[in-house]
Amino acid sequence: MRFLRTLAATVLLLLPLGRADVRGCGCDVTKPETMAATECTLCREAEAQPAEPQFFFIRDANPTKPNRWLALPRFHGASPQDLAGMSAADRTAYWTAAIAKARELWGGQWGLAMNGLERRTQCHAHIHIGKLLDGVENDRFVVADGPADIPVPRDGTGVWVHPVGNKLHAHLGDQAAELVLER
Ligand SMILES: [Zn+2]
Ligand SMILES: [Zn+2]
Repeated sequence: MRFLRTLAATVLLLLPLGRADVRGCGCDVTKPETMAATECTLCREAEAQPAEPQFFFIRDANPTKPNRWLALPRFHGASPQDLAGMSAADRTAYWTAAIAKARELWGGQWGLAMNGLERRTQCHAHIHIGKLLDGVENDRFVVADGPADIPVPRDGTGVWVHPVGNKLHAHLGDQAAELVLER
């Protein structure tokens, strides 16, 4: 039995790798029966946190991404939860918290990425934190002075952010934004 349980846990852990698209999310913390779904794992993780602080960090549970962390809001939003659904103040606080953690982990080599809705496997908002890979720079970015100026993706696509001097680049238009980060 123990073996079977371990096997089941392993399968559950690996399932998200093959899934994509969270546009049909149904996680609702007021309805426990909706929260068992695999795509609600991070919603459950948020509920397991103390009420404060407003943002928290966990290691990416995916064993193929040993160097990754995730930044998550303690609060929920629409399902799927995205940046566009947050207030400007919450969004700025979220990026600010994620950047501080990313700096702490990677110094000036940090990158942050939020995938587009077609590529996300979790309904709860999560920013991937990692080391920016070499050679990923392109010309699809806007320069931001700080977290408050990072544009909001409005069309379900992703965004990735990295520092350049004392400014930020916010790269828009990628679904699989996290691919610019070391696994
Ligand atoms: Zn949630
Ligand atoms: Zn750039």
